[in-house]
Order: sequence, then C-alpha cells, then structure tokens
Amino acid sequence: MLIVTCVKQVPDTTQVKVDPVTGTLIREGVPFIMNPYDTHALEESLRLKDKYGFRVAVISMGPPSAEVTLRKTIAQGADEAILLSDRVFGGADTLATSMVLTGAIKKLAEKEELAIIMCGRQTIDGDTAQVGPGIATRLGCSQLTLVDRVEEVDLKSKIIKVRRKLEGRHEIVTSPLPVMIAVLREINTPRYPNVPMRLMAADAPVVLWDNKAMKMDETTIGLKGSATQVRKIFSPERVKGEILGQETDKPEDTAKLLISRMIEKDLLSL
Ligand SMILES: Cc1cc2nc3c(=O)[nH]c(=O)nc-3n(C[C@H](O)[C@H](O)[C@H](O)COP(=O)(O)OP(=O)(O)OC[C@H]3O[C@@H](n4cnc5c(N)ncnc54)[C@H](O)[C@@H]3O)c2cc1C
Repeated sequence: MLIVTCVKQVPDTTQVKVDPVTGTLIREGVPFIMNPYDTHALEESLRLKDKYGFRVAVISMGPPSAEVTLRKTIAQGADEAILLSDRVFGGADTLATSMVLTGAIKKLAEKEELAIIMCGRQTIDGDTAQVGPGIATRLGCSQLTLVDRVEEVDLKSKIIKVRRKLEGRHEIVTSPLPVMIAVLREINTPRYPNVPMRLMAADAPVVLWDNKAMKMDETTIGLKGSATQVRKIFSPERVKGEILGQETDKPEDTAKLLISRMIEKDLLSL
C-alpha cells in the first residue's frame, strides 16, 4: 500500500518578492528549502513505512529546481520522488495546485492501492492550509487535519486512528483509508539522512511528469484554472509604538501602568 507525501519547495526567507504586474512570485535569487511542515509529513510517512511496510512516494509541483528538494526526500528514505513541472502548471492558486497534485495521486493510485496522502499543516509562504483539504475533496476521501500523533493503522480493516490537536484539548478520531492527513510540527523529529543514503540519493532518479504525462485539462490548472487573481500583495504599515514606564525604574509601577493602559484600550476582558 502506498503513502503519497506532498512536499513543497518554499523560499528560505520572509522577503518574498512579488511581480507588481502579474502578482506572481519572483523566484530568481531566493534560496529555497523544503517547507518545514513537510519535513514532518515525510518523517511520519517514513515511520509508518518502517512500522507497517508502506511504500512512500513523494510528489511536488514546482519549477525544475524543486528536484533538489525531492532528491533529499530519497536520501531520507522515500522510495520514489516525482516532480510535477510544466509551464501550464505555473501561476496556480491553491485550487489549481490541488488539482494537479490530485491528478498525480490518481495516476499513482492506478498502479498501487492508496492508503494515505500525507501533507504538512500549511506552507510558510502561502500559509493557506488549503491544499491538503483541496486534495481530499477532489479525491472524495476523508481529511484529518491538525494531526499531532498517528495512534495506529489497522491494515486488515483499513482504518487509521489519529490524535488531533484542537484549542485546549485533543480528540482521537478514526477514518477509513484512503485518507488525507495534515500534520503539525509536534508530531515527530525529522531524521538526518546518513552518508550512504545521501550517496545513493545523489544518483537516484527524480521522475518528471509534465502535462504530456499528466494529461490534465488545461482550463483547470495553472493560471487558467485559478479561481483567485492576486490584485496586490503588501506588508501593512506598522503603527509606531509607544515606550511605557520610562519615568520609573520600579517594575511594579511599570506593571501597574501597563495594566491600566490595557484596561483603557479594552484589551483585557475583566
Ligand atoms: C492567485 C494566486 C496566484 C498564485 N500564483 C503563484 C505563482 O505564480 N507561482 C507560485 O509559485 N505560487 C503562486 N501562488 C501560490 C500557490 O497557489 C501556492 O503556493 C500553492 O497553491 C500552495 O498553497 P499554499 O502555499 O498556501 O499551501 P498550503 O495549503 O498552506 O500547503 C499545505 C500542504 O499542501 C502541500 N502542498 C502545497 N503546495 C504544494 C506543492 N506545490 N507541491 C506539493 N505539495 C504541496 C504541502 O504538504 C503543504 O504543507 C499563487 C496563489 C494564488 C492565490
């Protein structure tokens, strides 16, 4: 049975440059890393592989440079890495992105029974957390978001039990397979690839699927298939702060001043 793990290459900086005309990202000159949440998604897939014998395929939609990130997933223990890259995939919003990823997952599921689609909670650039649920919706399978522990997988009855972290509490839920799981960082500590695995990964193939291979309807993907168009991206201007308590060196007076100012501004519900 197969676990498909989604990983996205993201800029290693919060200084994302955006083309002011098209509203799309300018990738040139920006260092890229694997989305940190996805390193945990990959680790969890590998732990389930070690425990239950799943095969792990990793997919990423992105430019050719995303191959570097995919190669690292092989060094960590992924069995197969596929880069979904084509000009017609470009400019995709979360809807069009989940469309292409779903297409790839369906293609993989033609050959091998699909058990889990493993995603990170969100990305550090887009931060929408929509892609995982978008995939589940398009596949018509259950989605388990905010997962901080996989309790167990019953391969016989094809049921998974996980723990979800909610505000101030946890919940244990079960779902039939196949299922989309979006994981939190707390779920595990990603492993470091050892030297032999790194050497092996250096020569391992990263499979490329363009739209000739994927055969997606071009009106449903890329910029054409995107339901949203970015009008403007900007950082809101920061309101200049105020320094409190300069006239006193007693911490208790500063604390009193701070509390009275918070009450004044209705920041405390008393
Ligand atoms: C109108 C619009 C135009 C855009 N144009 C561009 C553009 O031109 N170029 C561009 O680079 N981006 C563009 N984006 C951003 C792009 O849509 C997002 O990068 C992408 O849809 C993923 O969304 P997200 O980063 O919010 O992922 P989230 O939903 O936060 O990610 C959740 C999880 O989904 C998985 N995932 C997400 N994206 C991918 C992926 N590509 N491959 C594999 N797994 C993935 C990961 O496991 C991730 O942890 C655009 C977005 C919008 C709204």
